[in-house]
Amino acid sequence: MTHADPFAIRELLGPAAAPGHRALAGEHGVVLPPFTDHHVHLHLIDEHGLAPHGIASAVDLGGDPVELARRPREGFPRLSYAGAFLTAPGGYPVGRPWAPAAIAREVTDAQTAPGVPGGAGTWVDEQAGCGASVIKVALNAAAGPVLDHDALAAIVSCAHERGLPVVAHVEGDGMLRLALDTGVDALAHTPFTQRVGLRLMARAAASQTWISTLDIHGSDPEAAANAVANLAAFREAGGRILYGTDLGNGDRPAGVQVGELAALVRAGLGGPEVIAALADPWPGADPAHGVATFVPGEAPAALEDVPAWLGGATVVPEEEVVRDEH
Ligand SMILES: [Zn+2]
Repeated sequence: MTHADPFAIRELLGPAAAPGHRALAGEHGVVLPPFTDHHVHLHLIDEHGLAPHGIASAVDLGGDPVELARRPREGFPRLSYAGAFLTAPGGYPVGRPWAPAAIAREVTDAQTAPGVPGGAGTWVDEQAGCGASVIKVALNAAAGPVLDHDALAAIVSCAHERGLPVVAHVEGDGMLRLALDTGVDALAHTPFTQRVGLRLMARAAASQTWISTLDIHGSDPEAAANAVANLAAFREAGGRILYGTDLGNGDRPAGVQVGELAALVRAGLGGPEVIAALADPWPGADPAHGVATFVPGEAPAALEDVPAWLGGATVVPEEEVVRDEH
């Protein structure tokens, strides 16, 4: 097999991509930085499938904080997590069939002081104490009551005091504005219930990070089209985009999701941007240590073929890959 052209590979996939081979098997392919799925629910998936299928790190955005705190720190996927959803009394996802009681906390008091029953500060403290590296809030106006401005602002203030970003599930009228007005740092889903207006989009791109989840709207083409159009506009406005799939929502095999990558390309992301969205270490500062992504075979020639090709990605120890010298 001929070696692929490293210049063409870098042009298609960005400066971190290199032709290479596996030291033991000798198999040729392309070496890329380790990938993260920035939105999963581990209690709903078989996590053992993630690393063999290209995902070195995952961010759990809604699970039982006590269970998550008990996990061993080593092994793959490397995990960051939010712990429980913080939500309004009776708010999403309380009572959903996929959401056991342990994964939601109802905020009944906007106080930031520690130890207040049902207090914003109390619940942020609990997640932080369980090792959370991000705080998740539910702002789903389509599914019951939502946190008011004061409660949400209190959560954001407590989280930021602890150095933790806040990520929101935003759905329904006025929810993006509420998230922006209260300093929410990230969205768990690209907004899909409507097209975001220009002014709000500029504010979002300047202050927020969006997790893509474009490919979860299979049964709702209007939502899918809204999400792609919104992410395209967010990108145009200079926003930071993270690859995320909401894995556990619906029935998909663990690993890199070709459908999500194809939707990112439809939203206008070039190859280097797709790789950057996969390789971003958010909410941490550093990528998974000691591993790389390896995609066997020749790199594709065209952007439209990149998603399916990345579907063959796997996580390999750094010492097992050799970047070819040219
Ligand atoms: Zn989710």
